[in-house]
Amino acid sequence: MTDWTEVADGVWHARYQPIDISTVLVRGNDGLLLVDTRCNPREAAELARDVEAMQMGPIRWVVNTHAHYDHSFGNQEFAGSATIYGHHRIPAHFRDFEQPRLSGWAADPAAQPQYDWTDVALTPPHVLIDETLELDLGGRAVRLIPLPPGHTDTDLVVHVPDAGCWIVGDIAEESGPPMFGSGSFPFSWPQVIRDLAGHVGENDIVIPGHGKAVDRQFMLRQAGELGAVADAITDAHARQLDVTAATTRIMAGSGLPKEIVEPAVRRGFALLAGATP
Ligand SMILES: [Zn+2]
Repeated sequence: MTDWTEVADGVWHARYQPIDISTVLVRGNDGLLLVDTRCNPREAAELARDVEAMQMGPIRWVVNTHAHYDHSFGNQEFAGSATIYGHHRIPAHFRDFEQPRLSGWAADPAAQPQYDWTDVALTPPHVLIDETLELDLGGRAVRLIPLPPGHTDTDLVVHVPDAGCWIVGDIAEESGPPMFGSGSFPFSWPQVIRDLAGHVGENDIVIPGHGKAVDRQFMLRQAGELGAVADAITDAHARQLDVTAATTRIMAGSGLPKEIVEPAVRRGFALLAGATP
């Protein structure tokens, strides 16, 4: 069984493989709130068994930090027994990005063996929120805070005020550089982090979408790195570089790998050309 660490009072964090995805449990008197559901129904079933083995009560609430597959493709496992919450744009993101990826994979799974999406039924949250929502877990309030576009336009932060804990999804990543995945917003992302960091206390705990718990200072450093990438994309576009030349230039300047920089450049150039979403 994957280890769960109590990172704050009544808040447990586990880092599941593959891809070191963070899952989090918050305990209230009335049950457990689970954050993120892993990559497919089999991984989600393992997660559900592990939580059951901890004997801390039923999962009554599930929250998606955003729409990406590693955070939401296990939703179907919990949809019958818990209420799932997420950003109101998740259905649109599923339609525009995740369903096409899933269909492409299903047409030829052998071409993308890094994914196992057999039997995934895209399951959007039951409750779609467009403003901060406070949940009562029984003697404990948890705030769900939808964010403006950053890592995606479906980002949502879970704040546990009495524990000084923030569960932020992939707007911050610790075990690798932040990923410019499907539907990212490289230009507004840095400011989203800075604005959120303005509410995070100096001693608060921040749980990223991948990696170990960090803090406010880590968030601000990552905002700086992302801001430098955004500026370099704008500069490369002004110089009329193509994607390859821009990627090479930004890799040299940032030290970031191609698999991070190239998608950021593609997405940035598309946004500068007027892409929506
Ligand atoms: Zn993500």
